[in-house]
Amino acid sequence: MTKRLYYHDTFLHEFEGTVTDVINGDKPAVKLDQTAFYPTSGGQVFDTGTIKGDAGEARVEQVEETENGEIVHYINPADFENVRPGMKVRGTIDTFRRRDHMQQHSGQHVLSAAFERLYKMPTVSFHMGAETCTIDLATAGVNDEQLKKAEVLANQIVFENRPVGIRFVSLDEAKTLGLRKLPDVGKDELRLIDISDFDLCACGGTHVETTAQIGMILVRKLEKVKQGYRVEFVCGDRALRAARKDFEALTQAAALYSAALGEVPANVRKSLEEIKAGQKQQHKLMEELAEFWAERLVQTTPLKPEEGLNGAPGIKLVKQVFADRDLGFIKLVAQKVAKHAGVVALLGTTQGQAALVFSRSADVNVDVSALMKEAMASIGGRGGGSKDLAQGGVPEAGKVAELIEQVASSDRL
Ligand SMILES: [Zn+2]
Repeated sequence: MTKRLYYHDTFLHEFEGTVTDVINGDKPAVKLDQTAFYPTSGGQVFDTGTIKGDAGEARVEQVEETENGEIVHYINPADFENVRPGMKVRGTIDTFRRRDHMQQHSGQHVLSAAFERLYKMPTVSFHMGAETCTIDLATAGVNDEQLKKAEVLANQIVFENRPVGIRFVSLDEAKTLGLRKLPDVGKDELRLIDISDFDLCACGGTHVETTAQIGMILVRKLEKVKQGYRVEFVCGDRALRAARKDFEALTQAAALYSAALGEVPANVRKSLEEIKAGQKQQHKLMEELAEFWAERLVQTTPLKPEEGLNGAPGIKLVKQVFADRDLGFIKLVAQKVAKHAGVVALLGTTQGQAALVFSRSADVNVDVSALMKEAMASIGGRGGGSKDLAQGGVPEAGKVAELIEQVASSDRL
């Protein structure tokens, strides 16, 4: 078993040790007789740093614990030559990263205890991410008011700068102390983190000495998860960075509206309402415009000179290329043209993605999807639709008018 120096002194950033084992492989690693490096466990992530001995220095990139209680320091493969079994080393952990983890982990204990004290909501899991942390509360519901009150109480405990103690007790003794959470692992001796008169919890993590070192505890998000509710939060320096980022984003939004920060939500709401109303109005105008176009095209198109088959009336062949209207619009026109009797419409657009749209009236016996397939086959394009309405993309906008003329002279019409 590796002796865990961080169990007793979480502010120990430098220590002496001896290399007990060197592991070669894809991820080379060393074991030490004792270490201040924290291995990933209990929701807290590992420390990083260096170990330095006579043979040189090795960068510690990851630290994990084995099932039998040994701590494995994974080192940068490039530094493998710098470690030897039996070598005396000086370990140095990255202090900023450790402090960050301590702020998050101690903050978690305080926040979890606040939910437990106020609402009897137990914490069932804790996750420390690179940017934020989460706890999962086993509860059927949490409302915004409860969230706020737990955050206020947690920060109150921070402001009171309460001592945070570490002590070791037997499992039997621990059972009499009313711990917030008893671990399920069968250990004879438990390490307790004692936030004075507020929270007592079995934990192997690294913690602050007094609650003020946690800094601000900021709740960021609440979401429903399978086992209850997940609360996202950040503490200390992360809280400062998160608040700064929010402030900058909000300041930019406020500048766009020439408004005060607090007026941003009302301005955004108003903008969204205006956009919605504008879109509705635009849709209505497009419908009207398409109606006018359809009307005009049908009125100004002469009957195809030759009579239809067996003396049936001839059809009107409506042809038009739109350079300034999109596919959605010409489809609308095609549909409206088809409402008139005896018409086939061959429409094209060169705005954006060039395309063709063909349609026919219900009383005309022409399969426009067959016309579209022919047109597409001649340019290697793709298109399809029904006998009444078909569309296809044209790779070259310059070909649109030409294709329409080609289809207009088809034997099928
Ligand atoms: Zn803990």
